[in-house]
Amino acid sequence: MADLAARLSAIDEEIADAARAVGRNVDEITRIVVTKFHPASLVRDLYALGVRDVGENRQQELTAKRAEISLDGLRWHFIGQAQTKKAGAIRRDADAVHSVDRIKLADALHRVAEPDARLDVLVQVNLTDDQGRGGAEPSEVSHLVEHILGLPSLRLRGIMGVAPLGEEPRPAFERLHRIGAEIRALEPGATWMSAGMTGDFADAIAAGATHLRIGSAITGPRPDRG
Ligand SMILES: *Cc1c(COP(=O)(O)O)cnc(C)c1O
Repeated sequence: MADLAARLSAIDEEIADAARAVGRNVDEITRIVVTKFHPASLVRDLYALGVRDVGENRQQELTAKRAEISLDGLRWHFIGQAQTKKAGAIRRDADAVHSVDRIKLADALHRVAEPDARLDVLVQVNLTDDQGRGGAEPSEVSHLVEHILGLPSLRLRGIMGVAPLGEEPRPAFERLHRIGAEIRALEPGATWMSAGMTGDFADAIAAGATHLRIGSAITGPRPDRG
């Protein structure tokens, strides 16, 4: 727990430094701690240290942890590839879904909504040249956004991206930021930019990220998923 506290405060200092370096206010940046593959007890420890935003990338794990933990004000972000048939469980267990990358998934999340419920969603953009990777192609984003804006149970909050391997992250995040600006022309409330992981969060902050998804730098190495 002492190590966890030390890593968390060290990363928070790095986040503050990176924000200051580019003249940004750190208060506009949310640090999500990615807890995937770690036990629910780690989420409890993080909560005790003041963490209120955690990220999971698999529905089964999200559902299991949520069943085990009930902590006031803790927000669960779903950041993984979502199968359409898991939409019901994802919608029930996530407070925000960062990885909406196709119309079918948006429709599935909408179809399972309780009356009057609104779910925060982000459009995941594929920043790589590989169409097989997660995320909508940049050219498809505005079509997907317009579709989401027609689904009243979804509240479009912004965009999400993962920097490609083997490329400088900064230009990729700048592309993402430009796409975010295009989206805001359609929905001014879509102000979130979810970008930046352990290896590249300072670049993401420089490019305008509002939500960082940081795992191993805070949690330590992930246990073997077996
Ligand atoms: C695992 C994961 C992260 C966190 O990765 P780290 O390198 O451990 O910080 C961020 N985003 C997504 C989509 C992930 O799957």
